[in-house]
Amino acid sequence: MKRLADKVALVTGGSRGIGLAIVERLAEEGAHVAINYYPSESKHLAEEVKKKIESVHNIKAMIIHANVGVKEEVEQMVTDIENSLGEVEILVNNAGIAPFESFLTLSEESWDLTYQTNVKSIFLLSQRVAHNMVKKRAGKIINITSTASVLVTSPVIPHYISSKAAATQLTKALAIELGRYQINVNAVGPSTIQTDMTTEMFEDEENHKREIEANPMKRIGTAKQIGDAVVFLASDEAEQVNGHLLMVDGGLTVKAAQPDDHLEH
Ligand code: NAP
Repeated sequence: MKRLADKVALVTGGSRGIGLAIVERLAEEGAHVAINYYPSESKHLAEEVKKKIESVHNIKAMIIHANVGVKEEVEQMVTDIENSLGEVEILVNNAGIAPFESFLTLSEESWDLTYQTNVKSIFLLSQRVAHNMVKKRAGKIINITSTASVLVTSPVIPHYISSKAAATQLTKALAIELGRYQINVNAVGPSTIQTDMTTEMFEDEENHKREIEANPMKRIGTAKQIGDAVVFLASDEAEQVNGHLLMVDGGLTVKAAQPDDHLEH
């Protein structure tokens, strides 16, 4: 029996990057998956993912368009999923943006859009699915936050960093409020992963090398590893895990800020 057999999952921003890896791992474990996408260019990517996971894993999938920061679109999306796949039992709030702008020139529009996409979406989606989860006394909500929620990982994205800290704290607040209904709310904190969001960073070879050097495991993590963490938190094995931020960062966030070459010997 697969770990998530016949569970209904929704992954926001599921057509590419980390979201895609999460969709693939959930489907591999037997879940039926709704793949949310936003701009219309991503529709064909979402369609390809749907076709692939349906044929390889013999599960049901659907693709669904919505801006996760807009209440009406979120409500319509979840209603459509309920009518097609059933009530959402696993919600993965993955969609996020990180427009690179440093503080002195940061626009109000970027600030608002970042918070709308990275934080308000968690409020809107979690509230919409939580009512059914409360009735069933079961459900898993997993938010993809970041190492940036506890470390200032870059000096040029203060809006992103603070939004991820807010998302992590929101996770903990919801864990307390919804825990009494046997709903688990947790977060996963990736360090840098190679996706469209980090293309620029990886194009710069020096930056790439520094990123590897800074990591205690001397390697960059993968999107699949984030999917593995999500599967664990979505499974019965994580029944008593609530309000936790599971860092998948090679130990980056527990490393002291000092040269570690003396540890080599
Ligand atoms: P990505 O490749 O840029 O993908 C972002 C996803 O978010 C896309 O699927 C995009 O949808 C979706 N999205 C953006 N705005 C949306 C909106 N308003 N409504 C619905 N969907 C929207 O980024 P990623 O690297 O996979 O990041 C995924 C998550 O992991 C984010 O929350 C990010 O902050 C977090 N994270 C990433 C890293 C990293 O190094 N990559 C590290 C830590 C945390 P479309 O495909 O339709 O455009």
